[in-house]
Amino acid sequence: METNDYQRDQIEDAWREEHNGLRLTVSGLSDFALTIHERLFGPYPDIETLDRRRMIEQALLALDERDDLATPRHHTPSISELFREFEADGVRDASTLRERLRATDCSSTQRDMLVAAYTQYLDLRETIAHPEARSQNAKLTAVANSERSLQDAFPHLDAIVISGFIDPSSVELAVLERLADEFPVLVLLPTPTPDTPTAGIGSAIEETVDALVKRGFESERTSSSDEQPLTETAARLYRQVSPLETPPEEISWHKAPTPDREIRHLARRLRRRLATDETCTPDDILVLAPGLLSYREGIADIFDAYGIDHVYRVSILLERTHVGRAVLDAVELCEQPRSDRIGQLATNPLVDLPNVDATEVSDVQRRLYTTSIDQFTAELGPSEAGVESLLDHVAAVRDARPAEIVPTFERLLEHLGLEEAIETLAPEATIDAGYEGAAFSRISRILESVQTVCEELDPDEPLTEVATALEGVRVPPPPQVTDDCVELIGLQDTPMADFDELYVLGATDGNLSGTETRPRYFQSIGEALDLFERHTQRDRDRYRFGMLLANAKRVHITTPETTIDDEPLLVSPFVDELARVTSIEPTTGVASEARGAREDLQRAMAGADPESLAPALTAAKENGHVPEAFSEMALRGAECGSSRAADALSEHDGQLSTEAIAVLDDRLTKTPFSHTRLTRYAKCGFKYMLRTGWQFEADDDLEPGVSSLEIGSVIHETVERFYRGLQPDVGEPVDPTAFDRDDLERRLLEAGLGAVDGADESFDGVFDRATLQTLFAGLATPELNDYHDPHAETRSGEATGLFLQFLETELDRATDGHRPTYFEIEIGADDGVPLGERTVPIGGRVDRIDTNEADNRVSLFDYKSSSEAGARRRENQALAGVDFQLPLYMLGAPTLFDGRDGLRPHHVDAGYYLLNDGPTATLRPSLAERFDEVDMGAFLDDVVPDRIEHAIDGIDDGAFQPALVGESTAQCEYCEFSDVCDVRHHRRYDVIEQIDETDASTYVPDGARPGDTVEYLPRRDRDE
Ligand code: SF4
Repeated sequence: METNDYQRDQIEDAWREEHNGLRLTVSGLSDFALTIHERLFGPYPDIETLDRRRMIEQALLALDERDDLATPRHHTPSISELFREFEADGVRDASTLRERLRATDCSSTQRDMLVAAYTQYLDLRETIAHPEARSQNAKLTAVANSERSLQDAFPHLDAIVISGFIDPSSVELAVLERLADEFPVLVLLPTPTPDTPTAGIGSAIEETVDALVKRGFESERTSSSDEQPLTETAARLYRQVSPLETPPEEISWHKAPTPDREIRHLARRLRRRLATDETCTPDDILVLAPGLLSYREGIADIFDAYGIDHVYRVSILLERTHVGRAVLDAVELCEQPRSDRIGQLATNPLVDLPNVDATEVSDVQRRLYTTSIDQFTAELGPSEAGVESLLDHVAAVRDARPAEIVPTFERLLEHLGLEEAIETLAPEATIDAGYEGAAFSRISRILESVQTVCEELDPDEPLTEVATALEGVRVPPPPQVTDDCVELIGLQDTPMADFDELYVLGATDGNLSGTETRPRYFQSIGEALDLFERHTQRDRDRYRFGMLLANAKRVHITTPETTIDDEPLLVSPFVDELARVTSIEPTTGVASEARGAREDLQRAMAGADPESLAPALTAAKENGHVPEAFSEMALRGAECGSSRAADALSEHDGQLSTEAIAVLDDRLTKTPFSHTRLTRYAKCGFKYMLRTGWQFEADDDLEPGVSSLEIGSVIHETVERFYRGLQPDVGEPVDPTAFDRDDLERRLLEAGLGAVDGADESFDGVFDRATLQTLFAGLATPELNDYHDPHAETRSGEATGLFLQFLETELDRATDGHRPTYFEIEIGADDGVPLGERTVPIGGRVDRIDTNEADNRVSLFDYKSSSEAGARRRENQALAGVDFQLPLYMLGAPTLFDGRDGLRPHHVDAGYYLLNDGPTATLRPSLAERFDEVDMGAFLDDVVPDRIEHAIDGIDDGAFQPALVGESTAQCEYCEFSDVCDVRHHRRYDVIEQIDETDASTYVPDGARPGDTVEYLPRRDRDE
């Protein structure tokens, strides 16, 4: 009599092979007794397992209020098990329980807690369950004590055979005793030691044997008709025996470094076994994986890679299924609406939200700095209506009254389209339709049980009832076809397993030790009540393990030495015991193992040069061992690997052909070149190719308030508008001191407010007033300026805003004779900038150029809203040949002053004007002032034009290698292409050496080379 479907099928199949199939019915003992009950007493309703669980949860919730047990709802499974054991032992009411507890060592707190919980549970059962409902134990007791003959229920029954009866409860024994009174009953108890059935691993059946003998059963010892080679070995376990001198050749043991390597070892071994022995089929093989839950995904991947058809029966956590994940996300979304939960739902492959584009939703969610729903929906485009509709369903669940919570939640699940998605899952889909369907059924059943509780008890927080009911739920394995598949099972499924060869995977102390899994607290209560034996689990597991050995023709055990995180793993005490009695020693390493899969082949090919690989692959292809596509791909992979292993540049290092460049029109090569393009290329050719050529660009993050880029644009626009307003004609020097101070402040304010109004982003968010105050504080008058407030300090603590600081800096400069002359002025014609004999193909737009009549100097600025450190870094990079902005402007500026004799690039002072919301308005020293040891004349006349030409040559020649300037200069940390570029910064000096040696056209900035950049530049004569 078995309760496991699989075992039931096995017995039926075996019977049918030799007998009439209709003459045997296989059933569990409890199911059989329940059928008798129904036939004798009529159809009494059951107390469903899930309803019972809900009632125990509610009973514990009432306890929670008394604070008897910390977080009592978490203990529902343990309490439920205790109640089931009480009831099987004859307890039916609280007073009997109290009596039973009085005679035990349980503490008074434990007694009070148990009696209170049981009383509460019985009260709830009275309220919720059907008035005529009877528990299973009550029905079994009624059968055992029935005044009517049990033969009335089964008048044509000839005999009953019981198997797997290892640890019966007292009510089951009572039923068995009664059955034996009325029918011939045969109980089968397998043991490897029939002469002394309870010796060694047989100690697990000792109590059962005693109980049967006490009830008048006669014992008969039967030897197996087909003795297996390892029965003797199993009989030695846990007995006083000396170790064998020679281990049985049918047992082997392998130690692998990690669980992953262990699975690979097993897969290889299985594959070889199946390939080399025609008599061995997958049906002859059984894999016992006591840690199947944690091994499941590894097994699925690796066995698939090795082409081993397999099935496993393991219950998995609800959240490990797509349906379960969707339902749990939906519950969490109802408990607390957050955008990340909507993102998870939308991207779940079994969820189909109407009018929602999952790509848009996940993109916005990824870029958003917050999980706030309002911000999220505000950023959505086409998916907004679909998300709003989802949120309406969520709101309905949140507002639902207890009696309505389940139907409302089910409508939300319907909106997610889960059931339909499962029904339409293709059998060959990578998603396991069996598990998904089982998960959905389980959820539906759980929701039904919650509905009963919510209708009857009207809980204060019905949503919590739904959430609690779905916590820690496991999905039972769906029915599966096992023919021609290697089966993997856990230890609890091993009785009646049919196999010749046994493989034990993951035999560690954690997976296979027989320790009790229930919490110590409840274990001790059960022991005090005589419901649990201290070593029941251990003895039962030893028995199961031993019986598997006894029935196997060959056994191979594997154990991992450490976890993937290098935590040591202990070998199972069962394996230690086996090693003790048999003297087996583990093997290690992979050297002697056969290659079993494509990945083995790939590993063997790793490092081989393409020339030697090509003939081997061609032969393998011709002999039909690998398809042509594999051979081609492997060869290309080997070529790529060999290229990447060498320092010399190859086509695998971002080298584009002329045709490939042509495909991108002239986006990479068009002239004149701006400083942005040159700088991007100098920092990283690969990024330049992808961004400028292919125009791939990731969207920016969505930040709270106005972005720093927009603030920079407003500042920039303000100062330009301000000066243009003061300038009568383009190119005419402006003297701000010629204007009235109040007028200047008013003009600056007006220019600033105009720039804010015209900005792409609006400044009306919660953080934006502070930003505006930082810019405008102190400017003009409070009447004109809403952000003037002299008492409101700016972020830095300064009461003077950025624009006021700017004006004061400008007036200071004006007193020194500086006159702003050009704003946003273009430099360079279509063919570039003339420079002596050559024309440099560059152009651009300079933020501002000042002239000074007094000393005849020209100075140019680029406004930067970055920090001082950022500006200093760019200046250094200008010298290093990485950043081209200021040098390029210096080369172009003299073309604006055609009439000015002898004005050369190095006569132009070029620097950054820092205007940021610190607030700071500061002028950085010019490039020439900062690097006064460098000969700026030679630098600008020769070095910079050479660098520019070299970089352009590199671009024209298709040299788009990943960064040679190092990780921090290239800013790889923030690069959107970091996943695809395969840069190897640690080898950059070797690569540069190769470039120099081969005279490759790749541009290498001087700053990328070892040593100080100044060493590569012309020095200024100190006496000048
Ligand atoms: S990660 Fe670095 S090397 Fe790679 S593309 Fe981006 S910037 Fe270039």
